[in-house]
Amino acid sequence: MSLYERLGVPRVVNAVGPATRFGGVPLSAPVLAAMAEATTLAVDVEELQRTAGAHLARLLGVPGAYVTPGASAALLLGTAAVLTGTDPGLVDALPEVRGPRDTVVVQAAHRDPYDHAVTATGARLVSVGYPASTRRDELARALDECTAAVLYRPGRPGEHVGLHETAALAHAVGARVIVDGALHVPPADRLRAYVDQGADLVAVSGGKVFRGPQASGLLLGDPDLLAAVALHHQDMDVRDATWSRPGERDPRGAPRQGIGRSLKIGREQLLGLVVAVETYLEHGPDPVGRDELEVVMTALTGAGVAARWHHDTALDVTNLEVDVTGVDANAVLARLADRAPAIFVEEGAVWRGALLLNPMALLPGDGALLADALLTELT
Ligand SMILES: *Cc1c(COP(=O)(O)O)cnc(C)c1O
Repeated sequence: MSLYERLGVPRVVNAVGPATRFGGVPLSAPVLAAMAEATTLAVDVEELQRTAGAHLARLLGVPGAYVTPGASAALLLGTAAVLTGTDPGLVDALPEVRGPRDTVVVQAAHRDPYDHAVTATGARLVSVGYPASTRRDELARALDECTAAVLYRPGRPGEHVGLHETAALAHAVGARVIVDGALHVPPADRLRAYVDQGADLVAVSGGKVFRGPQASGLLLGDPDLLAAVALHHQDMDVRDATWSRPGERDPRGAPRQGIGRSLKIGREQLLGLVVAVETYLEHGPDPVGRDELEVVMTALTGAGVAARWHHDTALDVTNLEVDVTGVDANAVLARLADRAPAIFVEEGAVWRGALLLNPMALLPGDGALLADALLTELT
């Protein structure tokens, strides 16, 4: 009997992909082995963070890296670092922002529910422009000596100020640029392009295409800002007299537990992510689940249901797009969720009459279950 059965939690078919609400994607054997090995020894976690960060930064070709429990956590920690630097007084005060720079500017099209990670630090979010367009002048007028950072989300449709220009405008007033690359990295060359175009920090999800532990992520970029992240994030249950100050830390003494302490990471997640990134860089995206979607494609087209391959450029994965125009899509989704096992598909394209099937979390046999369910609903 599986642990899930013992607890009475039924399995579901996850055709959504790396979604947190379904536990993300299955981990590979090397990642699981790394997590098991991580737990066998005690280490100084601060030193582990620093060393693993340097290793990942070298592998990914960026100036610095810091392992977080997800991209959302990385956004929060990165914003905190930008607001305070390594000043222990400013670190201790958050979410009261005592520094002179307390706002984060964002183009309207780049807004997202994950903005909560930014405002949780106490920063004030200032939205500029409109969903379909933001002009360079509008962005420039919004930036001043109170701007701590510009939050940038790539890949949004419309006429917006590009990253290179955004960074030039931000840096001209002494503000930093934080890119939410959760959906867009890997590939690693896209990450390096963000840094080359002026991003100071890039938040990345470990549990998406890297196939790392679900509660893992990376904050990449400026090593000085990452040193400030450590002050917010590390377990600061220390004494000033014996606290070792590795690296180029601020000499003013230890801050207390900061707002980032709620986002702690275990060494299992940390080493799991290290091995996941190594595995990705060595072998590229894992094609797992693709065969299952082939089963669905063959069954649907054989029965005259319109379906086509659709490459998601953000996640760099090929989904199967199933046509549901003229059908009550919400009723179909409800009936899929009512089956045993329950079936969940990506709903993000329902507005244009399509269900998306993502292969990344499909298990052997899921293709047949999906095909059977969709044929029942759509023929
Ligand atoms: C998934 C996602 C996040 C959150 O990533 P986690 O690693 O789950 O914290 C943040 N921003 C965007 C745009 C995302 O797609």
